[in-house]
Amino acid sequence: MSSMSSTSVDASDLHANVALRLRDDDQRYTSGRRELVDLLVGADRPLTVAEVLERSDGLTQSSAYRNLNLLERAGVVLRVVTDDEFGRFELAEDLTGHHHHHLICTSCGLVEDFSVPDSIEDAVDAALHRVASRAGFSVDHHRMDLIGTCPACRSRSTAS
Ligand SMILES: [Zn+2]
Ligand SMILES: [Zn+2]
Repeated sequence: MSSMSSTSVDASDLHANVALRLRDDDQRYTSGRRELVDLLVGADRPLTVAEVLERSDGLTQSSAYRNLNLLERAGVVLRVVTDDEFGRFELAEDLTGHHHHHLICTSCGLVEDFSVPDSIEDAVDAALHRVASRAGFSVDHHRMDLIGTCPACRSRSTAS
């Protein structure tokens, strides 16, 4: 498998790569699964199953759950865990080439994609590699989400 690239891939490459991952997992790239991938490609943040259903063209809740879980097992989709009960789903970074983090609001549950400048990524990565190597650990990549309060919730709490 190729390493993570910082350039974004075009949609036909993406679908071809999704199909390969599913094949490795003995699964077919059905039209329902393709619709889920297209929905996630078009989203600018991780989506809950309810949000996926809102944007879909007649997917049922049970098939959305089943296929998202299947896509997660195949390494196509990543589940973003927050402190509420809703799993949120996004495409795996090594498929999209879009390395990013998340801002998670503990007050309203908002989850947003968050990119940091390359210079900061490099500094963070170097620091993480240093501490990991002290533990004898070799790092492939990192995931990091910031937990806190979004601007809307902050202004609500200062206004009252
Ligand atoms: Zn909020
Ligand atoms: Zn990063």
